[in-house]
Amino acid sequence: MSPVTMEPLLKHLVDITCQRDHTLLDRSVVSALHELVHAEQVRVHELFRFRDELYLRPRVWVAGDRTVSIEDAGGEHAGEPIARHPALVEGISQRQTCVESLGTDGRRTLWLPIWLNDKVSTCLEVINPTPYNSDMQHMVEGILCVYRNYQGILDYSERDSLTGLLNRKTFDEKFSRMVSAALESGPQEQEERRQAGANGQWLAVVDIDHFKRVNDQFGHLYGDEVLILVANLLRSSFRTQDRVFRFGGEEFVVLLRSTTVEDARKIFERFRRNVEQHEFPQVGRVTVSVGFAKISQQSPVVILGHADQALYFAKANGRNRVCYYDELVQAGQLHSEVSNDTVEFF
Ligand code: GH3
Ligand code: MG
Ligand code: MG
Repeated sequence: MSPVTMEPLLKHLVDITCQRDHTLLDRSVVSALHELVHAEQVRVHELFRFRDELYLRPRVWVAGDRTVSIEDAGGEHAGEPIARHPALVEGISQRQTCVESLGTDGRRTLWLPIWLNDKVSTCLEVINPTPYNSDMQHMVEGILCVYRNYQGILDYSERDSLTGLLNRKTFDEKFSRMVSAALESGPQEQEERRQAGANGQWLAVVDIDHFKRVNDQFGHLYGDEVLILVANLLRSSFRTQDRVFRFGGEEFVVLLRSTTVEDARKIFERFRRNVEQHEFPQVGRVTVSVGFAKISQQSPVVILGHADQALYFAKANGRNRVCYYDELVQAGQLHSEVSNDTVEFF
């Protein structure tokens, strides 16, 4: 390879491998492919399952000479069924890593599913009018290998090894970023949000009821099994744009995106019921208590404290229930100051 092409390639590889965040990693891969192989458009898509069908949702793409992420674009995109791209469906069913399709407009698309541990949750789309020569194809393949390996490393550092859910460290980072984005939004954005309806973001703390008894009665291994099964119920009870974390021990945190308070309550209730109705092998019945609060313009410590106070209210009042902080305060059942518990908690 000539030094002329070597230098930009090295610059992009350094850029890709210095990222500590999935969105920044996606951006650096999109700009590497856009610049190095002169693609007309490059998109990173998330692949997810919804009602037994696979969907594709763009996460990062090229706009002019910049990259744009779904968060920049307002965060909302329902995605499209991959059935609209038969070549991709076929390629995924055969576990291929590169699928080429030619649109009716003569545009050539390279679909590049990223396989990690035999699963695919990311797919790149590279659109270019002319086919690539073998040098260019090698360049694309090389960048993809670096991307895949690096995604594996990021996933490993972000997740809890027992349940595979996002870990506490990731929660701290994501949550403080979410709150500071709300704090930094100007009056115009706040007005727009107000006019868009009562949609808000919600934080829930979930704690398994009497979990110590499970350990004491059945042993630690069964306790671990219950944690894994509850984590699976969490995964299947929330949408892909929501985020679920293992906060520590038998406590979990859920971040729910843009929904009304009524819907937030219904969603958390549905999860609580799913756990209550699940038959846990050997152990039988397990329940959870949930406390939730609105993600306002207060500090992360205060918001988490509110959800925690609601959780403790649920624990003190029968367990196996969902409690909402603002409602408890309005009903005079909780006082709005930050409790000592919350301070100790940190
Ligand atoms: P409450 O309804 O009030 O929440 O009661 P609890 O028994 O669930 O609460 P407590 O906090 O007293 O007990 C939590 C237990 O969770 C204690 C600890 O041994 C257990 N635990 C924490 N992490 C793990 C883990 O990774 N695996 C297993 N098996 N147990 C764990
Ligand atoms: Mg606990
Ligand atoms: Mg507990």
